[in-house]
Amino acid sequence: MAHKYRYRCKACGYEAEIYDGFGFMGQHIVTVSCPDCRTLQPLVVGGVIGDAAPSFSTEAGRLCLNCGSALIRRWDGKTCPKCGGEMVKTGDVGFWT
Ligand SMILES: [Zn+2]
Ligand SMILES: [Zn+2]
Repeated sequence: MAHKYRYRCKACGYEAEIYDGFGFMGQHIVTVSCPDCRTLQPLVVGGVIGDAAPSFSTEAGRLCLNCGSALIRRWDGKTCPKCGGEMVKTGDVGFWT
């Protein structure tokens, strides 16, 4: 079972959904931070999609889904991409597949 969590920035209120665990096709979702459009993006890595398209089996060389930037990097789990403030987990927990 895979969970998703909602994170919110304590400083500016930016919210993002963070995915944890593996989906039904064996994929997992890496959260990346984009310095160009200042958003967090979920990046699907691996699983069946990765077997069919090798470029999807790694997070290397991937582009921001929002603006196409190549500068995305793995989110550190706490820094707001908008303002640099601290993001904390809210009470909302959901499921994804
Ligand atoms: Zn913020
Ligand atoms: Zn971007």
